[in-house]
Amino acid sequence: MTDLNTFWAARINWFNSDGREQSIKDYIDLANQLIWKRQASFLAAAILAAFYFNPLSIFAFYGIVALTEMLDLLLGRQSKAWNGQDPVVGQQILKRIAINTAVSAIAISVFIVNIALQQTSPGHFTPLFFLFSASVFAAMYNSQMKGILLLRLLIYAFAFLYIAFLDVVRYLPPISSDIWLEFFTIFFVLYFTGDISVKFYLSHKQRLAQMKMINEENERTKAALEVKSRFLATVSHELRTPLTSIIGSLELIKNDRLGVLPETLKPVFSIATRNGHRLATLIDDLLDLQQIEAGAMVFHFEPINANDLVQEAVESIAGYASKLGIQVMSDPCIEDCQINGDRNRLIQVMSNLLSNALKFSDEGGAVKVRVETQGARIRILVHDEGSGIPEGAKDCVFGKFSQVDSSDIRKVGGTGLGLNIAKQIVERHNAIIDYVSEPGVGSTFYIEFDRQTGGDDPSAKIKPLATAA
Ligand code: ADP
Repeated sequence: MTDLNTFWAARINWFNSDGREQSIKDYIDLANQLIWKRQASFLAAAILAAFYFNPLSIFAFYGIVALTEMLDLLLGRQSKAWNGQDPVVGQQILKRIAINTAVSAIAISVFIVNIALQQTSPGHFTPLFFLFSASVFAAMYNSQMKGILLLRLLIYAFAFLYIAFLDVVRYLPPISSDIWLEFFTIFFVLYFTGDISVKFYLSHKQRLAQMKMINEENERTKAALEVKSRFLATVSHELRTPLTSIIGSLELIKNDRLGVLPETLKPVFSIATRNGHRLATLIDDLLDLQQIEAGAMVFHFEPINANDLVQEAVESIAGYASKLGIQVMSDPCIEDCQINGDRNRLIQVMSNLLSNALKFSDEGGAVKVRVETQGARIRILVHDEGSGIPEGAKDCVFGKFSQVDSSDIRKVGGTGLGLNIAKQIVERHNAIIDYVSEPGVGSTFYIEFDRQTGGDDPSAKIKPLATAA
């Protein structure tokens, strides 16, 4: 028994010298896919042959072929659950593939040789063509494992030579006879079959190598992303904590809490505080982005009144708006306008939309916020009369670190992260965020949610926004 196992281990190494479980898996998968196609060809060949030769013997040998095919079917079914990783199971499967291949190739050869034996006139186009088709089929679809393919082709080669020799032995013809011509032609066919088998085998190997490369590249990219994510989280945390205390101290000094600050120093401290806040916003955005990418952003969903949400966001931005000399007006919805969402995250989204609207407006302009409902949907709109956004810039507007005007001379600052984060937050609410805009006229950004309760017609869709008005 041990000897037998050693024998098999050696055979298996030879059969599958690439050592790739993937090849076995590919072989089985393909065999499973092609099983009925093969059955159909064998049955068609048997019916054709039965019409011209002794049907009893034709169907008897076809029956044996079909039985060997059942073995393949069984093996395919049993191996389906194998994940292609465990080498011990792989070896067992390989052992059975080798046995099935030998049995099936012999059965097919005998089936075809039987046809040749029944032909009484010289020339065996039909059985030779059947054999040739079986060889090409094997070359095309068994190329994953060169040992298995070789085994099948060797058995077919014996059948080829046997059929070729039949007439030579039967008629002992002179060398100038067509029988010898046919005999020599068979060597061309054998060479051709071997050649295409090598080609298919090499292209399979190439595909495997490419897959391996892609997998390795994928793993490297994943590892790099992981490192980047950890780096971002560490740096941001290490910056955020000291920055909070720096900003706090600057605020105390600027507001004369630690003693009266000389007038000459006040502008310096104001600039320092402002820049501290900008830095803090950038770090917060980076932290949010990192959390979203790591799937670690936590959401606390609760019923929220959209009017309240807008009110809170408008109040929080009021100081900034008056500093820029821009009026912010809100137009609440008179109907019930409950949505389900994370209050803080939605305030963050609204603040981003509002601060953009203010940033890109001119002094003296107006920003309008409106809540509207239609059927089962609620839409919050933030409209400005600012610079507007050129057509085709959507990817840039919602992209990471991207701005429509990224030139050094742009008037307004920013990280190009806010709307990307907003979009990801909104999408976690199963809501949509979008805009309509016209350069020089203004922009309307909007978020559209499912309404929590109410609505006369729940199937009604809110009508699409056509203009920035
Ligand atoms: P930023 O920090 O640069 O504002 P955002 O992600 O919030 O980043 O916005 C991305 C870009 O989209 C902005 O740089 C700007 O080019 C464009 N944008 C966003 N809102 C408006 C708006 N209301 N009017 C004009 N352009 C806008």
